[in-house]
Parts: sequence; structure tokens; C-alpha cells
Amino acid sequence: MNLPSLINWFEKHQRDLPFRSHPTPYGIWISEVMLQQTQMETVLKYYPSFLKRFPTIQSLAKASLEEVLTEVQGLGYYRRFRLMHEGAKYILNQHQGVFPSTFESVIAIPGVGLYTAGAIMAIAYNQPYPATDGNVIRVLSRYFGVKKDMRLPSSRAHINELHNQLVQQSQPREYIQAVMELGALVCRPVKPSCEACPLQQNCFAYQSGKPEALPILTKTTKVKTKEWKTIIIVQDDKILMRKNKTNLLKDFYLLPQWETKIEAIEEWLLNNRFKPIHLGDSRVFQHQFTHQTWVMDVYQLKVKTGFDKEGEWILLRALNTIPIPEAHKKIIRYYFPQYLKTKAL
Ligand code: SF4
Repeated sequence: MNLPSLINWFEKHQRDLPFRSHPTPYGIWISEVMLQQTQMETVLKYYPSFLKRFPTIQSLAKASLEEVLTEVQGLGYYRRFRLMHEGAKYILNQHQGVFPSTFESVIAIPGVGLYTAGAIMAIAYNQPYPATDGNVIRVLSRYFGVKKDMRLPSSRAHINELHNQLVQQSQPREYIQAVMELGALVCRPVKPSCEACPLQQNCFAYQSGKPEALPILTKTTKVKTKEWKTIIIVQDDKILMRKNKTNLLKDFYLLPQWETKIEAIEEWLLNNRFKPIHLGDSRVFQHQFTHQTWVMDVYQLKVKTGFDKEGEWILLRALNTIPIPEAHKKIIRYYFPQYLKTKAL
């Protein structure tokens, strides 16, 4: 691979990213966690305010999980942030709050896998470790013509080894970021800009005339649909919310909802002394997760009395201080736009 040409392209075309100009291990770690499963454009809306709110490992470790989730609500895949919070506490306890600097100690941090450890070592410490994400897999499988199913761990390990050999021959910080950036800006999944690519000359996929044919990715499982009856229950200036205890959206606050008939909900309202219990017309909202679609038939109810042992009455004006998933934020924002802020660039 023509590495000088790739680095030269990167120096001219790289985006101005807040975590890459003066890379610190803490900043690279936070950005890489945010970038897992999330587009750069979205991460750029969250990263600066997150770093302002939690500027150091100490501040992150000492914050409550609820404060951390509130700051990242809307990004999805919240398990990564629970682990990140665990990781900050681990660094505070095991390394006196100083980010460790060897690969073995970085990968021992809760939630840090091979990719994130490699990115921290290469970008923050300029050490020759590979960091193989989707962009790298696409660029290298096209360039070298690797015709293996990239959903298989063995195929990804093969690309990781090619990446490892290349990072050993280069300035790790520049090389790693250059391949990632080429994948994001030029060697895109659809319609790659081969005519503007510094690797065009020896690229297998370009020469084959079908660059989009690689990488090979077999089809994944189908998306399931869940149909909910969701209720907004308001008493004076408070709204009933339930803290979720199951895996998807664990520790987030949700509106009460059931996968059942409306009659069963009216019975629940009656048994829990909610008054009145009559549910009027509903409005349908939809939210798409990666492997699930929620279709929510939403009812609104203003009550004078009522008790829910699984719920909490939250002041409407305090809704911005608790973590709420986007699936339900969009509902609350529709009915009470004055109480929920949206993230803006
Ligand atoms: S020439 Fe085209 S297919 Fe090959 S690496 Fe560059 S953009 Fe990707």
C-alpha cells in the first residue's frame, strides 16, 4: 500500500474533529464509545457538552449513572455508557484517576475491547496497534480484494492482521486515522469516490470495476415489531414514569406501557385507584431500534388520584434531568414541547 500517498491525502482532507486535534486518551476513549453504532454527525452534537459536563475521569467516575445517562440520552445502545461509567470508576480506583498507557492496562478497563484499546493506543499514544472498525474493514477488503464474509470473526481477524502489518510500517497516529477517514469520506459503502482516492492505483476493487461488491456481508436477522399501549398519566404538574429494569433501555425512565388490550389497562387503572379511568382517542407513534420496531398507541389521561408501585411522579419541569429514551421522548415532546430540550449543533 502506498502509505505516503494515503498520509498526504489525510493531511489535506481530514475533518476538523474536536477529539482529534489534541488527542488525549480520555477524549479518544469517550469519542470512540460514542461512535460505536452512532454516526459522526450525531456524536458531534453530544461530545462537546459531554466533555464540558465531565471534563476529567474523576468527574465522570464521581457522577451518578443517572447523570451520565441523562447527558447521552438520544444516542441509544446505553449499555456502552453504563460500562464507560464503570470504566471511569475503575481508572480512579486502580490507576489513581490517571489514564493507563499500556495496551494490557487499557484493555483491562471495563467496556474497552480490542478496537477501542487499539484506537486509544494508536491515536492518543502513537503506538503501533491496529483499530479495526467498519470503515477499515471496507477499505482494506476492497484494496486487498478479500472475498470473505465480514460477519465472521475469522474474516475480521484476517483484516485486523493486514491492518496490524500496515500500522507497524507507519506513524500509527496518522495511519490509523487516515484509513478511518478514507473509509468515511471516500471509500464509502455506496458510490465510493475512487477517482479521488489516493489508493486507486493498486486497489483490487477499483480494478475489478465493482468496488461496491466488497466487503461481503451476509444478511442479518429480521427486525421484530412490538405493539404497545402507552399512557401519559399527568397529575397536576407531574407525570408518571417507570424506571426500566430490563436489558433494553435498563435504568431509563419510560411512560407506563403494556403489550395488551386497552380493557386490561382500564382495569389496572381502576385497581390502582386512578380517577378518572376513561381513555379517549389515541395517537400512534413509532420508533425504530436496530432489531426492534415499537409501534405505540398513545393515550393521554389527566388524573386526580392514583398510585403505581412501579412508578414515580416526576415534575414535568424536571423531565430534562432524567434519562428518557428517544422512543418516549418524541411522545413527551409532542404533548409537552416546553418541557423537553432537543440537542442542537
Ligand atoms: S479505489 Fe475506490 S474501492 Fe479502492 S480504496 Fe479507494 S475508494 Fe475504496
